[in-house]
Amino acid sequence: MKDSKIKQSWAEPYKIKMVELLKMTTKKQRLKAIKEAGNNTFLLHSEDVYIDLLTDSGTNAMSDVQWSALMLGDEAYAGSKSYYKLEAAIKKYYGYKYIIPTHQGRAAENILSKILIKKGDVIPGNMYFTTTRLHQELAGGIFTDIIIDEAHDPYSEHLFKGNVDIAKLDKVVKKYGAKKIPYISIATNVNMAGGQPISFANLKELRAYTSKLGIRIIHDMTRVAENAYFIQQREKGYGKKSIQSIVKEICSLTDGATMSAKKDALVNIGGFLATNEWDVFEEARNMVVVYEGLHTYGGLAGRDMEAIAIGIAESLDDNHQHARVGQVEYLGHKMMEFGIPIVKPIGGHGIFVDAKAFLPHLTQDQFPAQTLAAELYIDSGVRTMERGIVSAGRKANGENYYPKLELVRFTIPRRVYTQAHMDVIAESAAAVYERRKSIKGLKMVYEPKYLRFFQAKFETLK
Ligand SMILES: *Cc1c(COP(=O)(O)O)cnc(C)c1O
Repeated sequence: MKDSKIKQSWAEPYKIKMVELLKMTTKKQRLKAIKEAGNNTFLLHSEDVYIDLLTDSGTNAMSDVQWSALMLGDEAYAGSKSYYKLEAAIKKYYGYKYIIPTHQGRAAENILSKILIKKGDVIPGNMYFTTTRLHQELAGGIFTDIIIDEAHDPYSEHLFKGNVDIAKLDKVVKKYGAKKIPYISIATNVNMAGGQPISFANLKELRAYTSKLGIRIIHDMTRVAENAYFIQQREKGYGKKSIQSIVKEICSLTDGATMSAKKDALVNIGGFLATNEWDVFEEARNMVVVYEGLHTYGGLAGRDMEAIAIGIAESLDDNHQHARVGQVEYLGHKMMEFGIPIVKPIGGHGIFVDAKAFLPHLTQDQFPAQTLAAELYIDSGVRTMERGIVSAGRKANGENYYPKLELVRFTIPRRVYTQAHMDVIAESAAAVYERRKSIKGLKMVYEPKYLRFFQAKFETLK
């Protein structure tokens, strides 16, 4: 496994031309800030954050080429030149036939769910994603998890924890019938499992299975380039293939996609819906006008579409992905050296710390991951986020989901931080780990109705 041979250099294939200055805070300032934020790192002011690992979404550094392309943005309301550049890039690199730009990934999910899902339909997926599942549910669908069991075990070293358990899928199909399944929702480099890839072999098997039944595969391709990197590094027969060609092969096994360009595609905003079916495209083109804007801009400025078109190409460069994942692995190895329990294998976009193992004296109702994220911020100004019981939310009947994984996510923005920053992050996690026994849990004092992790507030237990 490549992962353990980290001595190979992952140095960046770029140099720094401009810097963004950061405010340095004292512990006293941070204690005040986290209290005001209700112990929710989403509610901190970014000005009070030193190293921001809340998300890799929209936090990427654009290249000089992307920045200069902004000036070429064609801001025409209809038929913008920039739209045709984006369409050409998506066709060339991903191979989907029809595209609808959207302001970000969830807008594409909204449109797609409304078109394909009828009340009572079932949507099997390789683990849920927050916005994806919510749009499926709002459209009347029921999400069913068909990821392999290993994905729910933070210590399983399975190399492709994003794989689908075809037997689980078969059970769902037998129970509900193929007619009730408008599509299978397949994420590449599964975010909620810790940035874990699906193998090409598994995807092929899934394609063969679904083709027989006439069920679509819709690809959540937010992190497809990172997934392709892992296939290149780990799967037999792919070592000599380029990331660009692996990505195109992955897409060719699916019928359509939703994309948040804010991740792999190296921009700060944007997304799209892609499909190979004319009927779906036609309906989406009607619907995007209602929710986003005309089908040739879909809630984006012309300049945004320019930057995405270039970002897609840059994201598929082998050296870029090697440095990207290499930096994440560097941080993970450093944390393991300090004895910190992390999800393994190390994922593509961040390190996921097992908060249940880090704070074993807290019950899940005392929000161990939420607690740990707050403590890390207090220690060093490093901002992470909860991926556990708070993120999982409640079922339609009001009961809490109790996810097996109770994680703190250290998400690494692309091309933003240095190796010394990685050192500071690991050292801070180690400092909190040393005083872990003295850490008290939290109670929720404010809970919003939807996607509660964004705005919920907590108080420290006495
Ligand atoms: C971020 C993300 C989305 C949603 O995209 P937004 O651009 O944030 O709306 C969907 N799926 C996955 C896997 C994501 O990581």
